[in-house]
Amino acid sequence: MNIIVLVKQVPDTTEVKLDPKTGNLIREGIESIINPDDRHALEAALSLKETYGGRITTISMGPPQAIDAISEALGMGADKGILLSDKAFAGADTWATSYTLGKAVEKAGPYDLILCGRQAIDGDTAQIGPQVADYLGLPQVTYVFEIESVKKKTLSVKRRLEDGFEVVQCALPALLTVIGELNTPRYPRVGNLIDACREKAPIEIWNAADIGVTTAEVGLQGSLTHVIKTFAPKFERKGEMIEGTPKEATDILMDRLKENRLL
Ligand SMILES: Cc1cc2nc3c(=O)[nH]c(=O)nc-3n(C[C@H](O)[C@H](O)[C@H](O)COP(=O)(O)OP(=O)(O)OC[C@H]3O[C@@H](n4cnc5c(N)ncnc54)[C@H](O)[C@@H]3O)c2cc1C
Repeated sequence: MNIIVLVKQVPDTTEVKLDPKTGNLIREGIESIINPDDRHALEAALSLKETYGGRITTISMGPPQAIDAISEALGMGADKGILLSDKAFAGADTWATSYTLGKAVEKAGPYDLILCGRQAIDGDTAQIGPQVADYLGLPQVTYVFEIESVKKKTLSVKRRLEDGFEVVQCALPALLTVIGELNTPRYPRVGNLIDACREKAPIEIWNAADIGVTTAEVGLQGSLTHVIKTFAPKFERKGEMIEGTPKEATDILMDRLKENRLL
């Protein structure tokens, strides 16, 4: 079973802070990690490989330092890493990111399964998995928390719903986005990590020309959306003392809640 895992390097924080002047993410002093959901995608790929054999290729689009995320994936047991790094990819919106990743997957194939995290903790859109599946014309299942069975041409998974779960069977090749409930990711092995940092490590770095795209199709130029303003919402609370007997105060409170459509 050949599996491709899409891995994003993200800042190690769930509290994204923005520079109020530029609207850019403040990255100084914040360590970078593999996006948490993607570690669960990697673990799922590794356990499928242990059961069915095959190869795992990880693909990441990011700046040169995103190679650390690829090395960590190799440390966990992935067979090959591809870093998509080119100035032309900078400033990509989710559409341009998905297009770039889709092009890379086409070049890296053949594959039976693509695994992604449900959501990145920085961009937080949860759009990439579905958009990559759409670009490649693949069936997709999102919010997967259990891979029930894999047959030669189909797989059966459980996906989390707000108030329960759904069992879905789909044809392979397919794309799954996974959530943390799926498994417990293993730690990278020190020996594998050392090998991943050697010159002969199975890591390739691809630029725009390598995946057959022009600079106009990717990055900021190829993006269909543009950020006009970025800001952190300000929360202001005003306290109010309600006077009167307990019954009067309760009546006033109930009216206020109704007025504000909170009841
Ligand atoms: C208009 C606009 C402009 C933007 N400009 C910039 C910019 O200038 N610089 C910048 O850094 N970001 C920019 N972004 C953010 C960037 O587009 C997103 O971070 C990126 O598209 C991924 O989306 P996400 O983080 O919401 O991922 P999600 O959709 O939440 O991620 C889901 C899964 O997709 C996979 N995935 C996501 N991204 C990658 C990746 N890069 N490589 C491999 N796998 C991945 C992972 O498996 C991940 O778990 C911009 C976004 C928009 C909308």
